[in-house]
Amino acid sequence: MTPTRFADVKGFLPENEGEQLANWARESASLGPLLEIGSYCGLSTLWLAEVARESNTVVFAVDHHRGSEEHQVGEFFHDEALVDDAGRFDSLPEFRRNLLANDAEDVVIPIVAPATLVARHWTTSLGLVFIDGGHSLDAALADYRNWSQHVVKGGLLVIHDVFRNVAEGGQAPHAIWQLAKQSGLFEPVGSCESIRALRRL
Ligand code: MG
Repeated sequence: MTPTRFADVKGFLPENEGEQLANWARESASLGPLLEIGSYCGLSTLWLAEVARESNTVVFAVDHHRGSEEHQVGEFFHDEALVDDAGRFDSLPEFRRNLLANDAEDVVIPIVAPATLVARHWTTSLGLVFIDGGHSLDAALADYRNWSQHVVKGGLLVIHDVFRNVAEGGQAPHAIWQLAKQSGLFEPVGSCESIRALRRL
């Protein structure tokens, strides 16, 4: 049995989903750079970084690193180890440590800012956009509206935490997956657990 990849990197991306993400990135990296929204400690970033290196491209890793709703103090996914001296959530030091430890600093471009702010000034076409940011409906809708337009024809829009039933998880990622599917601009290409991809037509 092969050892688990990135076993010491905190995150919410099971290995089979990480492999699937990397496979989709491999299909689309020749079309343009890869961009993810929601890097947290860098687990998905590292899966993408490997492909970026092979494909001679880069990963833009967009995250304000102040955590989503569910990471805040007292919330379900809060991690006491990711709190700065002022008592605020901060995943950036851990993210940077993981990039360095996995030799990924030369293919990852961290953008430490809210995705909506970055989007206002973004003009670069992308081979793959991976949406894994805030899971409120507002946040997910904003990410979809702001970033799906930058996926090049033939490129992929990938969404994490898409659950069909409320019992499995929040419905915002599923809502934007539906929107993309119904937009006429994307066609579904596949899924693995809760990660799904659509191709820009
Ligand atoms: Mg996720």
